[in-house]
Amino acid sequence: MQLEGSCHCGAVRFRVEAQSPVPFMHCHCSICRKTAGSGGFAINLGARAATLKVRGERHLGRYHALIREPGQRTRRSKAERRFCLRCGSALWLFDPRWPDLVHPHASAIDTPLPKPAEVVEAALAYVPKWVDVPRGKGHVHCRQWPAESLEDWHRRHRVLSE
Ligand SMILES: [Zn+2]
Ligand SMILES: [Zn+2]
Repeated sequence: MQLEGSCHCGAVRFRVEAQSPVPFMHCHCSICRKTAGSGGFAINLGARAATLKVRGERHLGRYHALIREPGQRTRRSKAERRFCLRCGSALWLFDPRWPDLVHPHASAIDTPLPKPAEVVEAALAYVPKWVDVPRGKGHVHCRQWPAESLEDWHRRHRVLSE
C-alpha cells in the first residue's frame, strides 16, 4: 500500500510503500510516549525503506533514544527516530539492524489507513497510571512486545500488502 505522510507544519512530506499498513499496535513504552505521545502510545507501521521518498529532508531531526534501566549503564538505542525540526512531529523510525524496513508513525500518515480488527496494547510494563488502556474484546495486552512481527500479524489477519 502506498502511503503519504507529513509533519504538522508541512516542512517534511514523504511517501513510502508499506507491506504492514494496519495500525494495530499501540506502543506504550516511555520513549514513544515522550517523543510521539498521542494518548500515551504511538503506533508504528511497517514499510520498505528502499521506497522512502522525502521532501524537506533538511528539516529532519534524528534522535537515538537513551535507554536507562535500573542497575545498568545508559545505552544509546541504535534506532533512529526522525522528526520535524520545525514542528516536532514524530515521523518514522529506522533501525540499521533491519535496514530493509522503515516504521512510519501512523500519526504522520495522511492516506486513510485500515481499521484494525484487533489491537495489541504493547509495552504495558512502562505505562503510567493516568493512561486508560483499552480492554476487552479486540484488545490484546502485552507486558513487553509481542513475539509476532508486524509482518506476521498482517499475514495471520490476511491483510499483508504485497
Ligand atoms: Zn513540521
Ligand atoms: Zn515504543
